[in-house]
Formats: sequence, C-alpha cells, structure tokens
Amino acid sequence: MRWLAELVGFPHPPAAGLLTSGASMATITALATARHQAFRDQGHDVRETGLYGHRPMALYVSAEAHSCLRKAAELLGLGTRYLRTVPVDSAFRMDTGELRRLIAADQRAGVRPFFVAASAGTVNTGAVDPLDDIAAIALEHRLWFHVDGAYGALGILADDAAPGFAGLERADSLALDPHKWLGVPVDAGCILFREPAGPRDAFSLVPPTCATRTPGSWAGSPSTAPNRPARSERCAYGPRSPTSAGTASFTWYSTPLGSRARSPS
Ligand SMILES: *Cc1c(COP(=O)(O)O)cnc(C)c1O
Repeated sequence: MRWLAELVGFPHPPAAGLLTSGASMATITALATARHQAFRDQGHDVRETGLYGHRPMALYVSAEAHSCLRKAAELLGLGTRYLRTVPVDSAFRMDTGELRRLIAADQRAGVRPFFVAASAGTVNTGAVDPLDDIAAIALEHRLWFHVDGAYGALGILADDAAPGFAGLERADSLALDPHKWLGVPVDAGCILFREPAGPRDAFSLVPPTCATRTPGSWAGSPSTAPNRPARSERCAYGPRSPTSAGTASFTWYSTPLGSRARSPS
C-alpha cells in the first residue's frame, strides 16, 4: 500500500489505504467515508441515524466520469437527483467554471455541496481533469476531493505526462486499480486516504473475533468487508510502533494471506 502511494506520488504518512476488489469498491469506500464526515460536520452520525431527516447533499462528477461513481451514490442513499454532471471542455476535462456555477446553484437552493470526483484518466479518452484547480475549489467550499485514478494515475510515471497530474497529491482519497496497468492477475483495486481518521471513523467496528491481545492495538473492519477470502489482503489498523501505542498515530497495514492480524514491526 505504501509502495503504491509512493509510486503515484501520494505521500501522506501515516495515511491509510485498503486493497479492494476493484476501483468500484474503492469508490464506494471513499464516498462512504466522505459521507460520514459531511454528516458529522453537520452534527449527525450517519452510522446511527442513517440518512433520515437530513437535507440533501450534492456531489459533482464530470460528464466523462466512470459509472462506478453513480453506482456508489445510488448505493449509499445519496440519490442521483443530487449527482451533478459537470460539463467538460473541448479536451474532455472537467470545466471548472461550470463546477463553480453548479456549486453556487446548489448553495442557493439549500443543497449542501460535499464531494467532487475528478478523473486522472477517463475511460473514453484518457483525459486528466485539472486536478489542482479542482483541489482549490474543493478547499474553498469544503468539499471532499476524490480522484479516480483507476488506471490513469500510473501515467504520472511518464516524465512528459507527469505535469498533467499536478494536484493529485492534494486528494482526500485516490482510487487505483492495480489489476489494470500494473498487471496484477487477480482482482485488485486500492483506495488511499490522506487522513487515516476518516475511514476509521466511518467503518471501524471491532467484534470480539477480531480483537487482538496486543495492548493498545486493535484490528477490525476498517472497510465495508469485515472478512475477505484470499482474494487480496486482509487489512487492519495498528499503532505504527510499540512505542506509539495509545497515541493517535495510526496506519493501515496488511497482513500476509491467511495470517492473523498483528501489530506492524
Ligand atoms: C476500471 C475503472 C473503474 C472501475 O474499476 P473496477 O476495477 O472495474 O471496479 C473506475 N474508474 C476508472 C477510470 C476505470 O478505468
């Protein structure tokens, strides 16, 4: 996970990450985390109350975005009515002027903007959205900034293409698909988070079967899937080192297939 983050220039230790079945599941994981955070900012715990009685929140994707974003919005109860499709420019990149216009329209209508997804390589044309500009707009309006780099983020490794990815490192979450350009021969998606607290707050649940005996550490289900078969890896949380046990410095790490969760060395 750390290797993947370094590979695509997403240097945010202690950050968090999770291997998933693909970029679709990575996207659901990211959107669920953003949803949890947006609700919490408004004084609601979506894990406890669900979406009931809450005013709508809008999310923004470009007209060239992958359909997994729409599916994630549907599955998480956010509703396609509040999924805004931002028009693209002549190079098939998200038109940030249009993004601003849509955000302003939602604010006027009492709908809270909370999430924007940029593409780092669209399926149709390989277009990379203006990530830096979108990051700035997200910061200004306190939106979660997600980047879908399923296959395209690896383009950052090509020297002549790298400048086009400026701003990718500012994402709150980044979806990757090692089963595409990295050629991993089994299902392997990945979601990387800038802040480990986000997914921990959105997903952590420690049933007795997952409790560890190591003082200060814990394992559980920091994702949608508490137990996964030998499809990718089992992930858990733990303190970064025995000396930091009990502090807020958490990271995600992976245990080898079939082994029990344990503290990282
Ligand atoms: C492939 C792809 C996805 C979906 O990934 P799966 O691994 O099929 O779930 C999402 N976004 C982009 C840009 C993709 O190329």
